[in-house]
Amino acid sequence: MTPSPASTSPATLPTQDKSQRRVLIIDDDPVFSLLASEALQQAGYDTRIATDARQAMSSFEDYKPDLALLDVNLPGGNGFEICATLRSLASACDVPIVMVTGQNDTESIARAYDVGATDFIHKPVLWPTLPHRVDFMLRALDNLQALRESERRNRALLQALPDTIYLVDSKGVLVEHISGSERNYGRGLVGKPLEDVFPGAVARAARQALRGKSATEPASIEFKVRQGKGRRWFEARVRPQADGSLLIVIRDATERREAKARIEYLAYYDTLTRLPNRQLFVRAAARAIAESQEPAQLVALLYLDLDRFKRINDNLGHAVGNALLQEVARRLEQSLKTDDASAPPGDKSAPARHRVARFGGDEFGVLLTGLGNEQQAVDIANHIRGLLAEPFQCDGHRFVITPSIGIALYPRDGSDIEDLLVKADMAMYQAKDHGRNAHAFYGQTMGMRSLGRLELENELRRTFESGGLQVHYQPKLDLATGSIIGVEALLRWPHAERGWISPDTFIPVAEETGLIVPMGDWVIEQACRQLAEWKSAGLAHLSVAVNVSVQQFAREDFVDTVLRTLQQHGVQPQRLELEITESLLMKNLEQTTASMRRFRQAGIALAIDDFGTGYSSLGYLRQLPLDALKIDRSFVKDLPQSDDDAAICAAIIALARELKLKVIAEGVENAAQLEFLRGHRCDQAQGYFIGRPVPVAQLQGLRAES
Ligand code: C2E
Ligand code: MG
Ligand code: MG
Repeated sequence: MTPSPASTSPATLPTQDKSQRRVLIIDDDPVFSLLASEALQQAGYDTRIATDARQAMSSFEDYKPDLALLDVNLPGGNGFEICATLRSLASACDVPIVMVTGQNDTESIARAYDVGATDFIHKPVLWPTLPHRVDFMLRALDNLQALRESERRNRALLQALPDTIYLVDSKGVLVEHISGSERNYGRGLVGKPLEDVFPGAVARAARQALRGKSATEPASIEFKVRQGKGRRWFEARVRPQADGSLLIVIRDATERREAKARIEYLAYYDTLTRLPNRQLFVRAAARAIAESQEPAQLVALLYLDLDRFKRINDNLGHAVGNALLQEVARRLEQSLKTDDASAPPGDKSAPARHRVARFGGDEFGVLLTGLGNEQQAVDIANHIRGLLAEPFQCDGHRFVITPSIGIALYPRDGSDIEDLLVKADMAMYQAKDHGRNAHAFYGQTMGMRSLGRLELENELRRTFESGGLQVHYQPKLDLATGSIIGVEALLRWPHAERGWISPDTFIPVAEETGLIVPMGDWVIEQACRQLAEWKSAGLAHLSVAVNVSVQQFAREDFVDTVLRTLQQHGVQPQRLELEITESLLMKNLEQTTASMRRFRQAGIALAIDDFGTGYSSLGYLRQLPLDALKIDRSFVKDLPQSDDDAAICAAIIALARELKLKVIAEGVENAAQLEFLRGHRCDQAQGYFIGRPVPVAQLQGLRAES
């Protein structure tokens, strides 16, 4: 007998909770349906009764039960079929279906589970227990749904992260792949062994972790996917789980790596030339020295400074200066690269690795390692000079630039990089003192301290004011007559500790400080005094050429000052020649031209110095009131062997003739050069072969005019 529902105690869940829950009772037996309904309603549930399959289906659509009690034996289709059909409905797929079977009907129970039933109860039902059974089942459903919700949220959260997460089982097979990032790595690889999914290093770390051998800290391994532009970096972390599986978290580290690389670049590279900076150079040099185990091998530090760079920067502008520095950097790098490649493999005497760096301004460093002897450093210094000797084309300007190179050697000159750099720097000044475009080794005679920029400035001022500067004279030869027709006045600074300091070192300082104006006036004064002396000594035909700086020319009273000085010493203006540089012409063309005209009218000759190293368009040359061109000595140096230089010199001489200008060759050091120039009908020559710049008393070969 079935107990009456009235005698049941209400279920334990609060009524209001259950009234919102609906139970569908599907049974054709009205007694069972009523009693079940009664028992559940008393426990606070809402119920509906369906007596056949059709009603059951439609109730699922409109009543939307939270749970169904389904009798196994129903008319118009048995309960198993209904259960199977319900399970295929979207609205019923998750709803617990409890099948009501006969007592001990184990076959029915098995079938019930097969067709998707959640649970079963036997008839006759013990009514007071029914609400508890339903409660329990709904609570399990709630838990399941809560779990699903939590999983959905977790997944959403994981997908919002930039990481890709892989779950690898204890056998090392990828079982899951969760990814939010578009650029994830290794999609569609579930079911594969980790060796097929991850790069070698990651797979090895994962295997180790599976064997329980990983470090306490989760390993972080960086790897790269694809080459070239589409290349991306990833970082993998391997985390063993308590159940023996592994989590492998992979993050796209490309941006971070790029940012890091950019920061490093800014810290260690010069952005203008893209060369390493001094800091990186020092590091590389320190490493090279540490690795230089072979006692017979040398490491050389070359300190390179561009001659006359400031002039280009000041007169043609920073854009041209920058372009020039970039081109110098490119040539330096290129030269050393090709040098490297041409070195036979395994040849110990060839430099193995080089580094080029920009120290700032126009100063560069070159590191040479694995040298067999000093001569190799000299060869490379000469190679660099040769490369820089090629004319530069920048922004429509064409010029030649030369370097002064100081060399310090490890281990001979020291083992500390900073110390070696200071020594190479001092040697570089020595190279400048030797007349630019040269190299010099740090040597015993240079043990004295090198002057700092400020010290140099102060000492120069003091020396000038106390009359410590001198003017030396270098003879100029007339090639047609073979006689000395004049001299060039060149400033000299004899320094108590450093010996002769080159004008290339102190003239730029004098220009920067403005000291060049009184200094230049003084040189003109000296030249006029000398001309006056020669006049009274019967050497009135000699002329003196004086170098003039931009700053002097820029002064309004410059022309008047020069004319007054000539007058004071009773010297004819025709005896004075002023040498100006091409870049001066570019600076302030109108004002410069006006001053030039006044000099010209007064009878003072004007020559362009260092011709060929700056930019002079033919148009300007035609317009300017000029008398002479001085071919820069860099073009004379390799005459007559160098075809290029021979062509340039011949072209300048032809150009001068066309413009009716005199042409003077500088830097003539041997008879072959002189012969070449004479053969090409150059007017005058100047250089060590004819005579070095000397104090006036030592000038030789001055003859009174016949
Ligand atoms: P610059 O006017 O082109 O002077 C010629 C330079 O070539 C001089 O260098 C001279 O000593 C050097 N030289 C002459 N013959 C030879 C040779 O055969 N071989 C080699 N290797 N060199 C030779 P220095 O005296 O060192 O003067 C350098 C520059 O300093 C001058 O170049 C000039 O631009 C500037 N300078 C010198 N004195 C003065 C001055 O009083 N005022 C100004 N503003 N600049 C001056
Ligand atoms: Mg000169
Ligand atoms: Mg010159």
